[in-house]
Amino acid sequence: MRRKLVVGNWKMNGSLAANASLMAGIVAGLDGSGADCGVCVPAPFLAQAQSLLAGSPVSWGAQDVSAQVSGAYTGEVSAAMLADFASRYVIVGHSERRAYHAESSELVAKKAIAALDAGLTPIVCVGETLAEREAGNTFAVVQQQLGAVLAVVGERMGNLVVAYEPVWAIGTGKTATPAMAQEVHARLRAQLAEKNAIAAAGVQLLYGGSMKPDNAVELMAQPDIDGGLIGGAALKAADFLAIIAAGK
Ligand code: PEP
Repeated sequence: MRRKLVVGNWKMNGSLAANASLMAGIVAGLDGSGADCGVCVPAPFLAQAQSLLAGSPVSWGAQDVSAQVSGAYTGEVSAAMLADFASRYVIVGHSERRAYHAESSELVAKKAIAALDAGLTPIVCVGETLAEREAGNTFAVVQQQLGAVLAVVGERMGNLVVAYEPVWAIGTGKTATPAMAQEVHARLRAQLAEKNAIAAAGVQLLYGGSMKPDNAVELMAQPDIDGGLIGGAALKAADFLAIIAAGK
């Protein structure tokens, strides 16, 4: 049985003061009955996350990682650096990285490998744009995105978390219906199973895209939806806690 997992993606938000209050609110509100949880913070706040969350049930991590190990890559942050701050997760291939930084699926795959090599769990994001959905290409798009990663991770497939995030649902207030999301998740699970059926059964598949307290229960009740990757609602302790509670 897969455990439910709820991860916050803070994006480029936060400050030392605001984060301290948000993290304290999350830790104080957990009652141990909901989903496993984590927060992916901007890299400069990893030390703060480590210091405030160590020993709590909340894991932490980053939102991107370099595909390179070290060296002359100005502005990049390596997986080993994230691991130095005891990060557990790193998001790779978020649609905002794909759109604004022209990240290809092949680069995302390299980032996933760099994360795995450093002992981190990559949260591999896949998702179609509205135009791709309307053209009937949803499955082809997400399967190409996931396929690029599966082509290189081999036996380590079981160490991935995969997040299905329809681009048209991110930050828009539009959510895929539970049936729409389940349909894609089932396809992704089948794609994983083609590589390794036993490992596929254990991979957590998260839904992301305007998940909120009022739709989280129904989404997470779907057989292949194992939790959520949460943007906006992860910035309010009460909303984030309600979504974690929905994963019990
Ligand atoms: C995200 O950025 O991963 C996300 C799902 O955002 P939101 O919840 O705000 O749609």
